[in-house]
Parts: sequence; C-alpha cells; structure tokens
Amino acid sequence: EDEAEENLQPRPPVVAMLGHVDHGKTSLLDAIRDANVAGGEEGGITQGIGAYQAEHQGQKITFLDTPGHAAFTSMRARGAQGADIVVLVVAADDGVMPQTREAANHAKAARVPIVVALNKIDLPSANPDLVKKQLAEIDLVPDEWDGDTIVVPVSAKNSQGLDDLMGAILLVADNQNIKANPKGEAMGTVVEAELDKFRGVMATLLLQNGTVEVGDTILAGKAHGRIKAMFDYRGNRIKKAGPSTPIAVMGLNDVPRAGDLFRVVESEKEARAIVSEMESEVATQSSAPKVTLEDLYARLQAGEMQELRLIIKADVQGSLEPIVNSVRELAEKQAEVDINILHQETGNITESDVMLAAASDAIVIGFSVTADNAAE
Ligand code: GDP
Repeated sequence: EDEAEENLQPRPPVVAMLGHVDHGKTSLLDAIRDANVAGGEEGGITQGIGAYQAEHQGQKITFLDTPGHAAFTSMRARGAQGADIVVLVVAADDGVMPQTREAANHAKAARVPIVVALNKIDLPSANPDLVKKQLAEIDLVPDEWDGDTIVVPVSAKNSQGLDDLMGAILLVADNQNIKANPKGEAMGTVVEAELDKFRGVMATLLLQNGTVEVGDTILAGKAHGRIKAMFDYRGNRIKKAGPSTPIAVMGLNDVPRAGDLFRVVESEKEARAIVSEMESEVATQSSAPKVTLEDLYARLQAGEMQELRLIIKADVQGSLEPIVNSVRELAEKQAEVDINILHQETGNITESDVMLAAASDAIVIGFSVTADNAAE
C-alpha cells in the first residue's frame, strides 16, 4: 500500500481454483501444469510445492495448487490476500451445487473477481445452458447474456479450452491493476510448509512485493531464519525471485502456517525482537471476539459500516428458508444498512463458517444448531 505508483510494475495474477467436490479442480490444475511445465532439474525437489506458474502468450499466471476454499479462506482469515482471481470450477453435467455457491460467496466476500470454468464439457450428459441459467441465479450472469462473468467451456480430461481459460484469466487480470514494486519491501504469504526429514523446514512462499534472495533473513508468522537454499516450482535451484513467484525455501527454524504473512528483515536479532513483541501483545489482548454485536451496532450507528454481513445456519431447510426470507424482508424495510447474506446452509456451524466470518467481518447466526469443536 505504501508503494509509490511510479515504482509499480505489473506482476502475474495469482489464481485459486474453487468449486464443488469432484467437479474437476485437481484435474484442471494438473492439465494446465502438464501442458505448461517442463521437467525440473536433477537433484532439485521433485514434489509439487503448492503453487506453479503457467504461461499464455508470453504472460505468466501463478496457480495455487491447493484446490478448495478452505486454503483460500484461511489465508484471508490471517490477513493475506489469498488470490487475485478465482476460477470457479463447475461440472457441466452436475451444475451449481452447495460448495459452488459457498465458493462464490467466499470470492465475493473477498471482492475477488470470478472466472467460471465449465468443466467436463466432453461428457454427453453435459448441459451448459442449464448450468449458465443456474449461474445467473447466483448472480454470476454469463457475459454472452450481457452479464459480467466470463464462462469458459473446458475439459480437463481432453485438455480442451485451457488456452481460452488462461486468456480469460489474463483479460480479467488486466482490469485489476495487479502490480508490485520488485525493488520494494519484500513481503508475501506462506502457501504451505512442512518439516522434511532431510532438508528441515521447507516452506512455499508467494511473494507479493519486492525480491527475495538466498541469504536474506525472513520472518514468516513466528518462524524465522536465513534462507539457505531456494527452489522454483520446477524444483530448480534459484538465487532470487520477484513478485508473484512461488518459491520453496530452506532455513526456517519452525514450520509456519499456510496463510501466514512473511517479510524480509535485517537480521535474526530483529526477527526475534519482533516475535517477542508479538507474543507480549497477544498476552495482553483480551480474548474478546473480533466482531461483537455491540461493536457492530456501534459501527453501524457511527456510519462506519453500511453493510451487515451474515452467515446463517439452521437445522433444517424448512426453518432456513423462512429465516432467510424474514431477514431479507427486514433489510428491505429500512434504508440504514444493507444486509448481505454471505452464506446460508443447514447443519452445524463449522470451521469454514467461522473462517469466512473472520475473513469478511461477518457474524454467524445459528438457529437450533451447535458449533462443532473446530468452529468453537
Ligand atoms: P476435484 O474434487 O474438484 O478436485 O475433482 P477431480 O479433479 O478430483 O475430478 C473428479 C473426477 O472427475 C475424477 O474422476 C476426474 O477424472 C473426473 N474429471 C475431471 N475433469 C473431467 C473432465 O473434463 N471430463 C470428464 N469426463 N471427467 C473429468
């Protein structure tokens, strides 16, 4: 945010694949990777690192290789950007399903633009027109119907439509002002991290700004250390990397969490000082929730907030619908505040609901349901 406009340069867009289970997120990520990524160097790392880059007409796109909105939303709940563009994968034979709606809500809450990949177009049972109608019903009106959602028919199985999909992503990216300062403060997000038997802590980082070099000291969440070695997504050893580049680094003293923010610091000493400051801050903070009803009411009264965001859970469909309808009626009867129902579903309150709420400043309301352990 502090970067001066004249120092900014375009960076590749970062894309997350979301959608209902079995609609083909993993297959699409694999198909794009297979078509774009040549083999790595011998002696490099051979496993995927949780993100890769593909190229279309000379422009790069960074794909997060961990499908599903859990990863996307947990990143956002920790304050990270998550992604610049969401590809919503919808199977053409199955249509809009509960997790399709949920994923669309997560993306909308993040104000991240959506491109729809209408997958499995190869199947005889595919019914693209029906799916487009369903998409329009959830406010994703296809561009061919004068809406502003690009819907690209694809088949991960036959590698059909992949170029069109990448073209659509770049088109949307063009309107998003996706930029960074390669010479600015180096910072970004942890994509994933693990303890490797042989190499110690391996963390995949996605740089949002600046440049990282081997030998730099980084602080990721509370983990820190000097970068001993760095690999690109093909497993090749590299010495430095710029914005939107996924890199795997060795040298951290601990395993950071996916979604943690990282930055380059002066020294290990500075890193330790920042960590102890963070720890004392946490100790003095009360355990009050981020958003309380009182706090929301005060902010609405003060005019700081024009929108009340809700996540509504109920035990059965027969109670969910009337509740949602009454909330909508209430919203229409007054002009002080807009009510935005980010998500509505039957069933207990889950971790995913809480993550969405935390990431979107929303409140979760449950009718005749409980919260499961993780959610609590
Ligand atoms: P995910 O749960 O969204 O990651 O879905 P997967 O990528 O695991 O795919 C679920 C199933 O759909 C697998 O059996 C895939 O082989 C199949 N599948 C994925 N894409 C296509 C496609 O384009 N056409 C057909 N016919 N099957 C597909």
